[in-house]
Amino acid sequence: MAKEKFIPYGRQSIDDDDIQSVVDVLQSEWLTTGPMVPAFEKSVADFSGAAHAVAVSNGTAGLHCAMFAAGVGPGDEVVAPTMTFAASTNAALYVGAKPVFADIDPATLLVDPASVEKKITPRTKAIVAVDYGGQTCDYDSLCAIAQRHKLILIADACHALGATYKGKPAGKLADLSVFSFHPVKHITTAEGGLVTTDNPDFARRLRLFRSHGISTDHRERAEKGILHYEMIELGYNYRLSDLQCALGLSQMKKLSQWVKRRNEIAHAYAEGLRDFEKVELLKVRSDSMHAYHLYVIKLRLDRLSRDRNTIFSEMRNAGIGVNVHYPPVYSHPYYKRLFGDQRTNFPATEKVASQILSIPMYPAMTDAEVQKVIYAIRAL
Ligand SMILES: *Cc1c(COP(=O)(O)O)cnc(C)c1O
Repeated sequence: MAKEKFIPYGRQSIDDDDIQSVVDVLQSEWLTTGPMVPAFEKSVADFSGAAHAVAVSNGTAGLHCAMFAAGVGPGDEVVAPTMTFAASTNAALYVGAKPVFADIDPATLLVDPASVEKKITPRTKAIVAVDYGGQTCDYDSLCAIAQRHKLILIADACHALGATYKGKPAGKLADLSVFSFHPVKHITTAEGGLVTTDNPDFARRLRLFRSHGISTDHRERAEKGILHYEMIELGYNYRLSDLQCALGLSQMKKLSQWVKRRNEIAHAYAEGLRDFEKVELLKVRSDSMHAYHLYVIKLRLDRLSRDRNTIFSEMRNAGIGVNVHYPPVYSHPYYKRLFGDQRTNFPATEKVASQILSIPMYPAMTDAEVQKVIYAIRAL
């Protein structure tokens, strides 16, 4: 029997114009640190309304750069949600700071601002807000908390390119906002990331950290005929190449249309599943644009005869690429080794962690595929 096409949980869309834009760079003088880098940065800055955008080698590097720009270092604490990809808090560890977890709102899986405020101590330096699934956090509350305690607010906006919060775009909602261009994200550069900020000093520090802590780049020196350079901070090589920026620039042209398609798919899922008593849909704020990086449902395990992991395998075997975003960060062995078993501190996270399932969501999904997913879930 012919196997039906597997529907992944997410995937990139690459058109001929994307391919051509990369080929054009391959035939040009600069393969990296050329004109495509500022062009791509400008397109994301314009889109998000942020004053500065700094492209980096991936989203994780972007988080590391943001920690450096914010001046987070040894002895500092960074408050971050339990329900995120480990990179969100690994960045605090990279700079010698301690991640302190805040619980989530089980209705949205977004960080609960009240829990954030409870975790603040005199050592706290920054808050990492994660726009889980593509819905923006409660930034009114988070900004107020950051202001009250003089903390820097870093948005891990890796799920949120194209999202808004009360009319303001992601990228402009925190002191520093970090994006990822991994193939499952809204646009891709294969690997890639970017940090936006309105603060010129943060922007300068991001650029320094991206390139060894050296204050001029190779092209600047070549064009100005400068021989001498100075390394003034300990930075990394976190640059994004011109090949990748050309791909990103080409992909940016399609971002709005893709976010629209993601919203259409989400609407179809909500219509198809709303009245189905074995799953619960996440709460969506009506005053903001959701970017739907993910579509996450909560299984009502009390009404199902098997657990999430069994259902996960069944769906996969049926050709539907479900996933789990995420195991709580504190539950990873490395975090347990560093900070001990924190499970009892996070009742909301613990409950939803056994219920969540991400179902396929990407712009190239056909309506028939969406219906197939709905049908499979309704057969649970
Ligand atoms: C994808 C992602 C990252 C890391 O991005 P990379 O580009 O893969 O390094 C960080 N945080 C969150 C929430 C992500 O989804």
